[in-house]
This record gives sequence, C-alpha cells and structure tokens, in this order.
Amino acid sequence: MATPFKTVKRGQATAPIRTGDEYIASLRGRKLKVYLFGELVPEPVDHPVIRPSVNAVAETYDLAARNPELGSALSPYTGERVNRFLHVAASAEDLVMQNKMQRRLGQITGTCFQRCVGMDAINSLHSVTFEIDQAHGTPYHMRFLEFVARMQRSGYVIGGAMTDVKGDRAKAPHEQADPDLFVHVTRRTDEGIYIRGAKAHQTGCINSHWLIVMPTLRLGPEDRDYAIVGALPVDAPGITYIYGRQSCDTRSMEGDIDAGNKRFSGQEAMIVFEDAFIPWKNVFMDGEHEFASMLVERFTCYHRRSYVCKTGVGDVLIGAAATVADYNGVEKVSHIRDKLVEMTHLNETIYGTGVASSYQAVPMSSGVYLADDMLANVCKHHVTKLPYEIGRLAQDLAGGLMVTLPSEKELDHPEVGAIIRKYLKGRAEIDTEDRMRILRLIENMTLGRNAVGYLTESMHGAGSPQAQRIQIARQMQIETKKRMAKGLAGIASEPPEEPSCEGVQYLDRVFRAVDGRD
Ligand SMILES: Cc1cc2nc3c(=O)[nH]c(=O)nc-3n(C[C@H](O)[C@H](O)[C@H](O)COP(=O)(O)OP(=O)(O)OC[C@H]3O[C@@H](n4cnc5c(N)ncnc54)[C@H](O)[C@@H]3O)c2cc1C
Ligand code: SF4
Repeated sequence: MATPFKTVKRGQATAPIRTGDEYIASLRGRKLKVYLFGELVPEPVDHPVIRPSVNAVAETYDLAARNPELGSALSPYTGERVNRFLHVAASAEDLVMQNKMQRRLGQITGTCFQRCVGMDAINSLHSVTFEIDQAHGTPYHMRFLEFVARMQRSGYVIGGAMTDVKGDRAKAPHEQADPDLFVHVTRRTDEGIYIRGAKAHQTGCINSHWLIVMPTLRLGPEDRDYAIVGALPVDAPGITYIYGRQSCDTRSMEGDIDAGNKRFSGQEAMIVFEDAFIPWKNVFMDGEHEFASMLVERFTCYHRRSYVCKTGVGDVLIGAAATVADYNGVEKVSHIRDKLVEMTHLNETIYGTGVASSYQAVPMSSGVYLADDMLANVCKHHVTKLPYEIGRLAQDLAGGLMVTLPSEKELDHPEVGAIIRKYLKGRAEIDTEDRMRILRLIENMTLGRNAVGYLTESMHGAGSPQAQRIQIARQMQIETKKRMAKGLAGIASEPPEEPSCEGVQYLDRVFRAVDGRD
C-alpha cells in the first residue's frame, strides 16, 4: 500500500535505544529536579521507590527486542523499524497492534508501563497539526513530522502532559484567580516561547526523555495564550518534578515479599514549568484556540481505547485469584469457578470494546488512522467500573489473610517463623511463603502501589467517567433510533437516513466497509 505520509529528510543518524538496559543507562546523570519525601532525589533511577516504575518502561524496549512484530513497526519517516510507542498509525491494523502490545505489557508488568500517553499524543497531533495548517497556513505539521522522526531515530520515551492543575473547575483558564493554574505562554521571542504553569498526575514523566505539553480543555479567544502545544526535553531548565505518593509505596524500600510486586510499578508526578523554553521548531500550536477541543477529543479517542492495558493487568489478577484458590484447596469448587468466569467475562468486555474501536478506525486527511470514538469511550467507561468488580472478586477469593498477613520479617524470624509456616499453611504441599507471596500480589494490585494503576487510574486517567458519558451522548444518534422504532411501530415519521460511507456519525462507521478500502 502506498504510504500517505510525506517523506521526512534524514537528519544526523544516532543509534536508537533498543534494550531495557540501554534505556535505563540513558536516564542516568540528567540532573533532574525531582522532589520526593521532601528531598531532592540525587539519581531517580536508583531511588527504591522510583526504580520499579523505570523497570516497567524498560519492558517496553525488551518486548520490542524479543517480539518485534508486537513491539515495533516500520516507520515511513526513517525507513527503519521503530518502537511501536513511537509509530504513527497508518492503518487500523496499526491501532489494533497497539492494543495487543498494551495487553501483553500489562501481563508482563502487572501495572502501568507509562508510554501510551506519548504514543496517543503523537497520533492525535498528526492530524490536528495538518488541519491547523490547512486553516491557517502555519508550518506545524512539517515541524511535527521532523520531531517524530528525531524521536524515532533516538528511540526516546515521550510523556504526554495534558492535564492542568485546573484550580476552580467552573472557570475557564483566563478566569482563574491565578493565571498559572493552566499552562500558558508568558513570552514569545524570535527563538521560541516560554511557558509557565503546572501539569498534574503526569504518568512516567521522570522516566521520559521528552514531554509534549498540550491544552486540557476547550478554549475560547481569551484563552489564546493557553492554546499551546510544544515539546521539550525532560531535563530542560525551568522544570521541577514533585513525585506523587502511591498507597504503600514505602513497601518498595522494604524486603521482597511485602512489596507484592517488587519489580514493577507505575509513576505519576506533578510537573511545574517556570518559564521553561520551547524553540519554535518544537511548537506545534500557538494560539489556535479553536483547535484545542479537537486535539483533546482526538487524543482521548486514542487514549481511552489504550486502556485495554488494564486487561493485561486483569489477566494477572485473575491468575492470582485462581492461584490462591488452588493454594487453599478450593479451585474446583463451583462458585470459585464461576467467579473466575465472571472476572474473565468482565476483562474481555473491556478488551472487546477497545480492540473494536481500533478495528473501526477511519483515515484522517493527514493520513493517520483515528480509532472509533464511540467505542473508545465505551471501552474507557467500562474501565471506570469493571476493574473494581474484578478486584472485588479477587479479594473474595483471596480471603481475609490478604489484609491481616504478618510481615515477611516474621516469616524469617527465628522464633515466630516456624509458627507462621505452620499456621498460615493452605494445602499441605504448598509452601507457606508462596501462599503469602500471591496474597501480597493481590493486595498490591487492589489496595497497594499498583491499585493506583489498576483502579484509580482506571477511574480518572484519560478523563473521569462523566467525560465519557458526554462523548457517548454526543454520538448516540437518538433521533435516528427513534425513527427506526417509529417506522416498525407504524407511527408516521421520516425514515431513518441510510448510513453513508462518507459520513462522520457513529452508525456510518458501523456500516463502513471493513478496513476503509471501500
Ligand atoms: C494515575 C493517573 C495517571 C494520569 N496520567 C496522566 C498523564 O500522563 N497525562 C495527563 O495529562 N493526565 C494524566 N492523568 C490525568 C487525568 O486525565 C485526570 O485525572 C482526569 O482528567 C480528571 O481530572 P482531575 O483528576 O483533575 O479530576 P477533577 O477535575 O478534580 O474531577 C473530579 C470530579 O469532578 C468532576 N468535574 C471536574 N470538573 C468539572 C466540571 N467543570 N463540571 C462538572 N464536573 C466536573 C469530574 O467529572 C470528577 O467526577 C492521570 C490521572 C491519574 C489518576
Ligand atoms: S494507564 Fe494504561 S494506557 Fe495509560 S500509560 Fe499506563 S499502561 Fe498506558
């Protein structure tokens, strides 16, 4: 198939980061200003609370090295295979493969592996920069393609910084008591722009190489200085990171068993910009406020079906629940089997809608494929609910010991260790330590560090539940459905319109020929 993309000229070739070890090495020595527990962190990579989140991102490289079909794609910009997180989707299949990669990484890490926000940002900016240029004659799209090619040639991690701290939620950015509650431009020079403000809940930002800053909501003409999209290195001057606490995060500073998942965790931090500089070559929107809502909607369309990541994590939790039932000797009991079936049913419900959103993608005028917005929102709306039910069922199967277990220090203690091994035993042939380990994993995923990723991030990440309901309401075509019902009931009414393959409504996409090659 001919590529719809323009060729981007090759710049200075550098060896891209290919493996997890190379990635971890690339993060060292950057002198980031990161605060955690009231102190500046000398080297984030080596901090025991931060390291598990670094390990999770490293898996995105190692998966691509082990399984290039799943974890990488051929770039039309560089002519080389690049990590799939840096690839712009040139087909519905590319979007489906993103989902499959996300599920696999959820299975491998049992947590948030942090790279999807940047991936979804570059996919949404591809079409938005193209359409701004068409409307205003601006140079954003080619700048953006050059930026993507640079990222691909280096194999970098991009963090997506959309959510502002937002202050009074009922007020627009320019109406806030403090203008810095939304990120905005403070100064423009011949070289570029300076930005100020703070972005909240930023997934994997300290583990990234670059950040893309974007507006978080619909903007009006008075918010022109807030309509800003630009990319800057994570270690640019004027940036401070304030690390977010996660429930039970200090368990990562303790031993092995009590952490639940010692190797992997997610990461969120607040990013504060104090007149941080972005050169013009990395500015992809400056003042085109009428395109802010288009960007937010396209970004969330990609990102809400990216939440199939939670089905990979769900696979692990279902496996943990089945294991604890096995260790307790009840795996074959009918209500246990039925609960495992229910957990699987809920998990696959999320996957089904997410992957269907990708399959039902449509090409944009820039050439990128955009996932189906209705199904993306249905997927994310499931994610705001179903992991909580899966977690509830996992806790049901785990039993109360999940929250009353003594620490691993007791297990190793010369006096009480033997008592613990004797009285906390399940089936005779199962090691008590293994029973404790699986219970700690369930605790980690439903109450501890990785419950941030599995539960609350499922609720609010990519937008709180009401944001999806608004998008679903906009696209539900109630009048068309009423006309269908009235026609069959014999009530005089206009017949429903025939779905059109040129149309932009949800039901048009439902009946569009598969793959868009009609
Ligand atoms: C773990 C985690 C990771 C995240 N990662 C990223 C990331 O990498 N990048 C990024 O940009 N963002 C990220 N987010 C941010 C996420 O998109 C936001 O949390 C989400 O948009 C909700 O915003 P908020 O948290 O400020 O909640 P709030 O805005 O405080 O919302 C709280 C409640 O108030 C309601 N509400 C808010 N405003 C209004 C209004 N005007 N009218 C009516 N109701 C309203 C909401 O519907 C919700 O029920 C992450 C969030 C989490 C929890
Ligand atoms: S929550 Fe899921 S989609 Fe978002 S960055 Fe983490 S793993 Fe990716």
